Amino acid sequence: NEILMRHGIPIAGNFLQQELALSTGAVDAMIVDVQCVMPALGELAKCFHTKLISTSPKAKFPFAEHIEFDEAKALDIAKQIIITAIENFPNRKGKQVVIPDIRENMVAGFTAESVFEFLGGRYRPSYRPLNEGIITGRLRGAAAIVGCNNPKIKHDYGHVAMTKELLANDVLVVTTGCTAIADAKAGLLDPGEALKYCGKGVQEICRAVGIPPVLHLGSCVDISRILVVLCNVVSQGGLGASIADLPAAGAAPEWMSEKAVSIGFYVVASGVYTVLGQPLPVEGAKGLTKFL
Ligand code: SF4
Repeated sequence: NEILMRHGIPIAGNFLQQELALSTGAVDAMIVDVQCVMPALGELAKCFHTKLISTSPKAKFPFAEHIEFDEAKALDIAKQIIITAIENFPNRKGKQVVIPDIRENMVAGFTAESVFEFLGGRYRPSYRPLNEGIITGRLRGAAAIVGCNNPKIKHDYGHVAMTKELLANDVLVVTTGCTAIADAKAGLLDPGEALKYCGKGVQEICRAVGIPPVLHLGSCVDISRILVVLCNVVSQGGLGASIADLPAAGAAPEWMSEKAVSIGFYVVASGVYTVLGQPLPVEGAKGLTKFL
């Protein structure tokens, strides 16, 4: 998501597809840091020519080559990793490579500021069209659908089903992380195609402004951007005095990472109606469960 957002580099998939990407036989190097790394990657990489490269001193993996990342020498280290991958390319020769020919168009990489410009135009940047859409009843609200893939759930099902249901009911959706890629694969980030899933109000606004009905705001560590958007909507006026007054909700239908718990807490603390698709693994502790 980061390189898609900042450099427009197409993405191969989300969390549950990392082993599948490797099993295409086309991966010369897979680079990992500290989180969302499947434990069998090193073992799997041995079946192909792929080099698994770890980068954090906090997380090293069996059968991985370690090239430690240092922010002060970021560019040099990145080049070293790319050269390692290029030098490994000849080892792909003669091996079976299967890259599925399935693609999907998407518009990605909105920020709190660019949403602002899209909504009101470069010369009149404003959240007014969004607020007025809600005030006049064309939009019923906005929802952030975020978070992980969860192996307990059919791949992407929770994200895509919830997104389609909200769009059909005239709720604008913003998204980050693995949800964003799940929705992208389902065509929901394509400004043309996705409108067929939307109610009339969302269709009208997205057509007028030229945006997809699902706005990609980055990776799962970019969720605070959504709170900035909500603050801007409050400042625009007409919908209430605080985030808690807005017809807005947040959901993580398939969360699984610990990080998602802390994100869920700050979203709740910000006053947003919050839905977690999976229960927290604390239900054995009745007092804590009640408190939460
Ligand atoms: S959304 Fe969840 S699974 Fe996906 S990268 Fe973020 S923490 Fe990992």
